[in-house]
Order: sequence, then structure tokens, then C-alpha cells
Amino acid sequence: MTQAITTQNQGKISTVKGLKCKECGAEYEAKAIHVCEFCFGPLEVAYDYDALRRSVTRESIQAGPNSIWRYRAFLPVETENPIDVGTGMTPLVRANRLARRLGLKKLYIKNDAVNMPTLSFKDRVVSVALTRARELGFTTVSCASTGNLANSTAAIAAHAGLDCCVFIPADLEAGKILGTLIYGPTVMAVQGNYDQVNRLCCEVANTQGWGFVNINLRPYYSEGSKTLGYEVAEQLGWELPDHIVAPLASGSLFTKIYKGFQEFIKVGLVADKSVRFSGAQAEGCSPIAQAFRENRDFVQPVKPSTIAKSIAIGNPADGIYALEVARKTGGNIESVNDAEIIEGMKLLAETEGIFTETAGGTTIAVLKKLVEAGKIDPEETTVVYITGNGLKTQEAVQGYIGEPLTIEPKLDSFERALERSRTLERLDWQQVLV
Ligand SMILES: *Cc1c(COP(=O)(O)O)cnc(C)c1O
Ligand SMILES: [Zn+2]
Repeated sequence: MTQAITTQNQGKISTVKGLKCKECGAEYEAKAIHVCEFCFGPLEVAYDYDALRRSVTRESIQAGPNSIWRYRAFLPVETENPIDVGTGMTPLVRANRLARRLGLKKLYIKNDAVNMPTLSFKDRVVSVALTRARELGFTTVSCASTGNLANSTAAIAAHAGLDCCVFIPADLEAGKILGTLIYGPTVMAVQGNYDQVNRLCCEVANTQGWGFVNINLRPYYSEGSKTLGYEVAEQLGWELPDHIVAPLASGSLFTKIYKGFQEFIKVGLVADKSVRFSGAQAEGCSPIAQAFRENRDFVQPVKPSTIAKSIAIGNPADGIYALEVARKTGGNIESVNDAEIIEGMKLLAETEGIFTETAGGTTIAVLKKLVEAGKIDPEETTVVYITGNGLKTQEAVQGYIGEPLTIEPKLDSFERALERSRTLERLDWQQVLV
């Protein structure tokens, strides 16, 4: 049944064996399918790890492009010329000021708020999905999105010359809608929540013959998230951290960082090590955190209500796999409320100079909560994944971050304003002291 992709390009044989059901193990060709016909389980890409072990070295990766495509051998594409818009290789920042504030010793931020081209981690998954879509012969690509995915799909489709039609919930932030429309796709703003958008898209996928990056192309799309694991390992000097904290929407990203680490161990690129995986959700949409807390092995769908719209998926496709990863690695899944999310955004900005969106605020707030609860050891080398940019969700912090001091273009006006602001600062401090 397995039909390996055996295209031989310039001496390099693709390392993809095909698709495999995560539940029953049934094998399929690497086509535009995502559900097992026998058990309805999700399909995942399977690789020939012996071939990878033989052909990939640290040096061969480092000699590759400065993008996710340096890991091409671990990604489900055949072409030597993938769609490369500079996605990936975002900074891994040593976050000393935030670490000190929280009482940690060695903290890093993986900063996908500056991922190219649309400033969220979704550019990784879309670069892979659209490269595969093109190989499979699709000319129109689509997605069901909570915002960032629509930005990425529209931008990268424009670059690749593919037709594009995206679906979003109608109530998204202005920056997410504008940041999609600018690329000229067809945008369907659906009057409903993400889970309703997704259900509609499953029907459209069956009738239009389009490549939906997160539906019929989902096995390829989700593999793109593994690069968040590879890059951290490489940027830490070919070593794995002790603990990672990442946001959960469908749960895919979380499980694929895990798969990325495991693959690097399997092919000998890094030493074996157990890494604890902790996940972050917004209280107003926390079905995975609830299941974790109640020790359930199923996820009860919820109706989302939170400012963290990019991670507001009430019925998460990979929820049970995310639970499994957190449990078997000794991690946790926590949730925080909207006020804590805003505080998390401010904390990261004020300590590290990184302006993240609500999903990042959620992750930082959960990091803080886990440290305070003793669930992250100060001695652990911890990596926090910041997955999106704050300029896209400006309305979330409007009214919570003060205002500029408006002055006349005169020196004495400036001096009076400065005195006033210093007095206010002193008052603030006095309040802290009482
Ligand atoms: C989509 C998204 C996530 C989570 O994605 P999943 O893989 O569905 O869990 C996290 N952060 C941001 C900013 C996102 O847009
Ligand atoms: Zn199956």
C-alpha cells in the first residue's frame, strides 16, 4: 500500500514514505487526504529515518538556506525549489530581564512575532502546505482561519501565483482582516465562530476541489510546525531545552514541536533527553486545559469567548494528542483569563522589547502561573514560544497601556509635562509601597 515518493532530484531521494493513520496505522499514498478510511483517525506523514540518518548532518543543514527549508529533508515535499519567502530562522532570544522578574535562571523566547512574511508562526505551516499543494496540482488554495492563517495563506499564495479564497469568523480584529485583504484574495467573513467556519470549509473542500491548507492538506501543513522544534535545537547549539511552553489552539503546533525534537534524537542530530511540554490556553476557550485538569483523556468541545481569538478553537482536532504529550513528558496545560493575557503582553513588552499578540500574552501569563505554582523549576532551561505579533491585535491593549503626553512645541510645555509624569511615577511607586 505504501507508495514512497521516489522522485530522484540531483541525487537526493525524497525521504517521505507516505501517510500513516495515527490511530490504526493504515498506510496511504502522499495525496490530498487527511482522514483514515477505516477508523476516521488523522493521517500523518511517515519518513524513512534510516535514510535521513545516513544523508543529513549538522553541516548539511547549516549549509542550507537561512529559512525553514534548511530542514527540507524532514519536510513532506519532493521539489528542490520549494516556496521560500524567508520563513523561519527567527531569533531565539535569551530573556534575562523576564527571567529575573519571574525567578528563572535560563529563559529563552523563540520569537515568531517576527516570522516572515506575515509575522506569525503560520507562515511555517503555509510555506510547506502550499509547496505541497503546487506539487499535487492545486491551482486554488484556501483555509479556515482564526486570523493568522488567512494572512499567511493569502500572502504566500500571492507570491506563488496561486488563486486564493479564505474563510474567517466575521468578528476578527481589524489588523487580521486588513492583513489578509491587502494580498487580494477572496475573503469570506462567516457569521459564526471558528468551529462553524471550519465545518463549512469541510463541505466546501468536498465540492470545490480546492487545496485547504488545514483540511485536505493538513498532514503536510502540520509538519511545518516541526521546524519550531528543529530551530530551537540548532540555535541552542544542537541541544534540547529542559522545558518548553507553547500556546494551544487545535493542539497541532504543540505536538509537532515534540515530533521535531524526537526526530532529531532519532537521526542522531541531538543527544537523547526528556523535554517537558507545557501548554497555554485562554480561559474563555480552554477545552484542553480543562481535560488536563480533570484528568480526562477526551476533550469536551466549548463555545469560545476570549480576546485571544487566534487560539480560540472550541473543538481542537489534535487536543487528545496534545494532552498525551503534556502528560507523558511531565508537563502541564494551564489557562489564564483575559486580564492576565493583557498583563502577559505588557510584561513581555516591558521586559524584553517584544510586542506579541494575545496568543503570546496567553503564553507568557501561563509561564508566570506555572513558575509561581512551582511547576517550572528555576534551574530548567526553558523556551517559550511567541507565535504572533501585537500590531495585529491592537484593540486588545487599547486603554490598558497609558497615553502619550500631548504638549505644545515649546520647551516649558515639555518641562511641565516631564515634571507631571515624574510625579505620577512617584505616586505609582508610593502605591506599590503601601
Ligand atoms: C494558530 C495559532 C496558534 C496555535 O496553533 P495550533 O497548531 O492550531 O495549536 C498559536 N498561536 C498563534 C498566534 C496562532 O495563530
Ligand atoms: Zn485508521
